[in-house]
Amino acid sequence: MNPKTFKIKSFGCQMNVYDGERMAELLGAQGMTAATDGEDAELVVLNTCHIREKAAEKAYSDVGRLRREDGTRPLIALAGCVAQAEGAEAKRRSPMIDIVVGPQAYHRLPEMVAAVSNGARPVDTDMPAISKFEAMPARRRANPSSFLTIQEGCDKFCTYCVVPYTRGAEVSRPWKDVVAEARALVDAGALEIVLLGQNVNAWVDGKRGLADLIRELAKVDGLERIRYTTSHPADMRDDLIAAHAEVDKLMPYLHLPVQSGSNRILKAMNRSHTAETYLAILDQVHAARPDIALSGDFIVGFPGETEEEFEATLSIVDAVRYASAYSFKYSPRPGTPAATMEDQIPREIMDDRLQRLQARITEHSLAFNRSKVGCDTRVLIERKGRRSGQMIGRSPWLQSVHLETHAQPGELIDVTLVSAGPNSMAGAIRQSEAA
Ligand code: SAM
Ligand code: SF4
Repeated sequence: MNPKTFKIKSFGCQMNVYDGERMAELLGAQGMTAATDGEDAELVVLNTCHIREKAAEKAYSDVGRLRREDGTRPLIALAGCVAQAEGAEAKRRSPMIDIVVGPQAYHRLPEMVAAVSNGARPVDTDMPAISKFEAMPARRRANPSSFLTIQEGCDKFCTYCVVPYTRGAEVSRPWKDVVAEARALVDAGALEIVLLGQNVNAWVDGKRGLADLIRELAKVDGLERIRYTTSHPADMRDDLIAAHAEVDKLMPYLHLPVQSGSNRILKAMNRSHTAETYLAILDQVHAARPDIALSGDFIVGFPGETEEEFEATLSIVDAVRYASAYSFKYSPRPGTPAATMEDQIPREIMDDRLQRLQARITEHSLAFNRSKVGCDTRVLIERKGRRSGQMIGRSPWLQSVHLETHAQPGELIDVTLVSAGPNSMAGAIRQSEAA
């Protein structure tokens, strides 16, 4: 069967969302069309995430659910990090899976689909250095805020994390390719570009680093906003911090995960920073851009974490006063060093710590958002809200802003922020705009 329609379901991080968009463009270039909502797609790509516990089990049950009531099923491709980790094992565990394709091999998806029609069940989890980008069609579609992956993989080997195994070694895309893709996205209507990488601030091309790339992209006419995520404290260079002071288009937002406030736990995690060196970096960032919104990631219940060590995490949250943050219960990932460490923490303790941490983060998010009430700023409209006439956009600080407006996605409008909740703001169109 040669499928004519497809659906791509992406789970997990923004890099998976980006990969899903690229796969859609690739299949579109072969003459296939995206299935509309409610329509049964002839090819379903499950673009999976491996970061959480039971990721593989979840992927297999998602595959099972694709069987239709009449017993038929679409052609099924397992993509993303679970595909990378499971490889050929996936076909043994689920005979419904036709294609297994890793994150570095999806440029071969069309030929793999064709091979299925000839009776094959292809598996490709090779990790050639970035060649997939060269094999893909140029960008022709963009969102008002578009993702652009510039760096993949990770060499840091934090002891809890699967990324170095599923996404491979750190690789940066060449300067000229990134600039060309950014221009294509802007030509297709993007006003904001979010540069992505597992360690985006480790991006490098010869002597040039992320700060140079941001300065170059700031010259692109029509591009109004630049963001980057996720950064590692070890790669937070002075020139990148300076760019926050000097490049107007670089938005005042930084996602810099610390993971824990305890130096003993940070060492056991193989993080290269201490609480003190992390806070010193943030002091520098604050000095460069006093209004910056800070975000981070936290893991509670890493093996051996004591109550005092957890409290050190609460203290760092209070010291930084994050505008937002992501927090996770530690989940042992098979094959990582932490999975076999002694003193795994009982689930009830993890649940309790996560709840306390999230309550603390929420207090700071609310305080940050309240500090912006009354601010005149610009909001990039991204989508419709739930109520009629309501639109949702983003402030420079990445807050979600709800507005009553006729403005459409892709418009950057002048707004006064009028009220705050922990997760979003309400805005009102400024007089000159409303008139
Ligand atoms: N490279 C980024 C960094 O080091 O900050 C983060 C990338 S990782 C895919 C995203 C987040 O998932 C991490 O910051 C961490 O908080 C969380 N994470 C990764 N492995 C985890 C695990 N085994 N258990 C719980 N959370 C985990
Ligand atoms: Fe995972 Fe980030 Fe650590 Fe790399 S730096 S191993 S992606 S948590």
